[in-house]
Amino acid sequence: MPELHPKLSPVFDEVVARNPGEAEFHQAAREVLESLGPVVSKHPEYADAEVIRRLCEPERQVIFRVPWTDDAGRVQLNRGFRVEFNSALGPYKGGLRFHPSVYLGIVKFLGFEQIFKNSLTGLPIGGGKGGSDFDPKGRSAGEVMRFCQSFMTELYRHIGEHTDVPAGDTGVGQREIGYLFGQYKRITNRYESGTFTGKGLSWGGSRVRTEATGYGLVFFAERVLAASGESLEGRSVVVSGSGNVAIHAIEKVQQLGGRVVACSDSDGVVVDETGIDVELLKTVKNGHRGRIVDYAEARGARYVRGGDVWTVPCEIALPCATQNELRTEGAASLVRNGCVLVAEGANMPTSPDAIRLLRDNGVAFAPGKAANAGGVATSALEMQQNASRDSWGFEHTEERLAEIMASIHDRCLATADEYGSPGDYVAGANIAGFTKVADAMLALGVI
Ligand code: NDP
Repeated sequence: MPELHPKLSPVFDEVVARNPGEAEFHQAAREVLESLGPVVSKHPEYADAEVIRRLCEPERQVIFRVPWTDDAGRVQLNRGFRVEFNSALGPYKGGLRFHPSVYLGIVKFLGFEQIFKNSLTGLPIGGGKGGSDFDPKGRSAGEVMRFCQSFMTELYRHIGEHTDVPAGDTGVGQREIGYLFGQYKRITNRYESGTFTGKGLSWGGSRVRTEATGYGLVFFAERVLAASGESLEGRSVVVSGSGNVAIHAIEKVQQLGGRVVACSDSDGVVVDETGIDVELLKTVKNGHRGRIVDYAEARGARYVRGGDVWTVPCEIALPCATQNELRTEGAASLVRNGCVLVAEGANMPTSPDAIRLLRDNGVAFAPGKAANAGGVATSALEMQQNASRDSWGFEHTEERLAEIMASIHDRCLATADEYGSPGDYVAGANIAGFTKVADAMLALGVI
């Protein structure tokens, strides 16, 4: 592990001591602190005002009980979380994740990353995240609705268009946002669309929000390739996962002339050398709530139960499933097979060792904080449309998304240059995201 700057080492020790057992949060904090050495050398005022220490401590953390009744009439119990991490730039903004692996450490890591990502978009949004250890898999629509209603019966008092604006994430799509918004509207007796993003088009949603994270990722990857005179045209691509981010990344890669040869879920991998049929994948996944094995059967493609998607040869890899899904073995396999770029669609999908291995072997690496920021950027565009009671067309919104991704890309490179790490997107994203928030925190005093 690289050494931390002497002023940052005690900050990291404090993060570990104050948040015991929260390995993912420690990992996310460490990665940012590793990038900030040159910043504290150049700007001692940040350390003097304890900006970095304050940034590592959430402004507010809410944990609550979520009881609900299943279809058999049994009472079920889950735990709900909302971590309101930083509001120096605007209302807390970040998704809700429903997955059995969710605990405070996961929510904190996601909320922490969100601060820098949201800052990078250039839009006025702070950072937060939430969710529950509820597992929606195998649950009926009625069970999911009753769970969402119970979750919102507590969460409503903490959110609002000027306070905290949730959206979707793993396990939370438009259906769940609908149930959550419905209950919020009922309890508060207000049609406050701007309290949620990721809504349906007929009830205040934005065009392109569903596609935004995957599309934005591919726009970003294209800029990285263009920086060395290359493009996506004719490239073979592997995408992990087959959820919202993965599906729309696949769609955009193929629109831009690339060929996605494999994708996955937590059960297995489909290898489809002629290119994934994204319309069929959408029908299987979204229409029938099916699995990758169902896609493979319908398509007549090869399915490897329990397979590792990173062993499938490709030139570009887009991890779009979950944290720490790409580790050293997977990275070594990508290097062996001649991969030239890894761009993260998921949050923190690549382990620190795997990132080092990729970069030591000359593979370009685009961190999720920058590369997957298109989702939250379009959420901020949804908030703008809600505030002005307007609704933009698809092309206009997609153009705005592409411009935002280009500007994030260019800011990462310019900042990496300025701080002595040319071409380093990790340093560029962390430093550019940090300095904007840190300047706002300095201006707002010790709060
Ligand atoms: P979804 O729930 O729509 O999809 C997640 C996908 O990842 C599913 O296909 C799931 O498979 C798969 N998956 C989960 N765990 C594993 C695993 N261990 N191995 C292989 N596949 C796995 O979530 P999203 O697409 O919304 O989110 C994916 C990632 O992108 C997350 O890290 C999220 O935080 C991040 N992200 C999402 C944004 C958004 O706008 N939705 C914005 C920015 C980042 P299975 O069904 O088997 O669980």
